[in-house]
Amino acid sequence: MSNDTMNVSLDAALQEAQENFADGNPKSKAAHAMATQFMPGGNTRTSLFHPPFPLTVVRGEGPHLWDADGHKYTDFLGEFTAGIYGHSHPIIRVAIDKALDGGINFGGHGLIEAEFAATLCDRFPSIDLLRFTNSGTEANMMAISTALAVNKRRKVMVFNGGYHGGVFTFHHGHNAINAPFDFIVARYNDVRATQQLIKDNASALGVVILEPMQGGGGCIPATREFLAMLREMTKEHGITLIFDEVMTSRLSPGGLQGEHGITPDLTTLGKYIGGGMSFGAFGGAASIMSHLDPRQPQSLPHAGTFNNNALTMAAGLTAMTQIYTRDEVSRLNELGEETRKTLNAIATKYDASMTFSGRGSMMNVHMTTGEIRSVEDVARGNMRLRDLFFFDMLKRGIYMARRGMINLSLVHEQRHIDALLSAVEDFAVTRRPLVSTKAG
Ligand SMILES: *Cc1c(COP(=O)(O)O)cnc(C)c1O
Repeated sequence: MSNDTMNVSLDAALQEAQENFADGNPKSKAAHAMATQFMPGGNTRTSLFHPPFPLTVVRGEGPHLWDADGHKYTDFLGEFTAGIYGHSHPIIRVAIDKALDGGINFGGHGLIEAEFAATLCDRFPSIDLLRFTNSGTEANMMAISTALAVNKRRKVMVFNGGYHGGVFTFHHGHNAINAPFDFIVARYNDVRATQQLIKDNASALGVVILEPMQGGGGCIPATREFLAMLREMTKEHGITLIFDEVMTSRLSPGGLQGEHGITPDLTTLGKYIGGGMSFGAFGGAASIMSHLDPRQPQSLPHAGTFNNNALTMAAGLTAMTQIYTRDEVSRLNELGEETRKTLNAIATKYDASMTFSGRGSMMNVHMTTGEIRSVEDVARGNMRLRDLFFFDMLKRGIYMARRGMINLSLVHEQRHIDALLSAVEDFAVTRRPLVSTKAG
């Protein structure tokens, strides 16, 4: 098919791209078909599924991934921000090997956990004390539960488009399998309406939790004005403010809170901080966290078999002290700012209806123009065009999230960034009739 035929309609183009994808990936297709016999939809992680079937990844090394059919990709998903070190980083590998040599499941305190905790408390000044969990979801579960137990209230304010884990998903308001907290869903970046909602619920509201930039929602930064209002209102009404920095803590040396100079009561962490192992943590003001001190008679219990698991403690400590140092945080995020600026310049050059939102090393493409301030703005984007972009990027060797997320990692060199830029430019050129704001 010529470009002209292929671009007659978006539906036809997308169908053709999916057919080409299916034809080019028979081994992934077979692996998925086999998996469907034992897992619902062949899947154990909904965010990885996309029709007609997802790729099966068989190997990763540095900035690259290989699928079951032998295609090589430059990895711009970076495991939804957890994979910031690239694949099989040699220094992390040494740390894990060393931990394995000493045995892994002690059922006892280890030497590394306190050092790792000290490193994180030092890095994020709002964290006086912290506890480890196995995932970001668990960190948020514990942070919310602890806050409510301490301030003896029951309502939890979250934001439309927010994501705090599988049971805290607010992409379209409520979600049927969310944890049974008494949630109030407010509108992200809407200063006045949120202020009013907090006032109206002040006596029952125990927690306000948000990502200072919504990650899963589409890399939507909160305005400083919005964060400052939340800080002021929660302080005034005795509400615990939780920043979910599971993703965003990578965006500046002290997390995104440090960049804004706004201090939450509690912070949750996850993803990259465990050096690639399963990880989560929650921490913050000693006045709240000390309720978990088992030396106290009425302390709140927080258990978890793998909370101090030897592999995560070793990998995480090494990664945070030897690899993702403050200098590297700055370097990576400057590279991200530069890259996103160039991507938006490409969109402008071709009058493409595309916007790359985000901050630093995290970005997300939206098939629309104008500012992205909330998931309501994200919804203006053309989702089928975004799907077409996804398949076109795969075809050009760029691995990213179907929903448009792109993350830089520490092992990306200029040539890898250039590969991303030229793939996007190629898309803007070859799909011009479908993407241009001036077409049809
Ligand atoms: C990924 C994520 C979580 C959940 O972390 P898991 O380790 O996947 O449970 C929570 N909050 C945010 C902002 C996330 O991006």
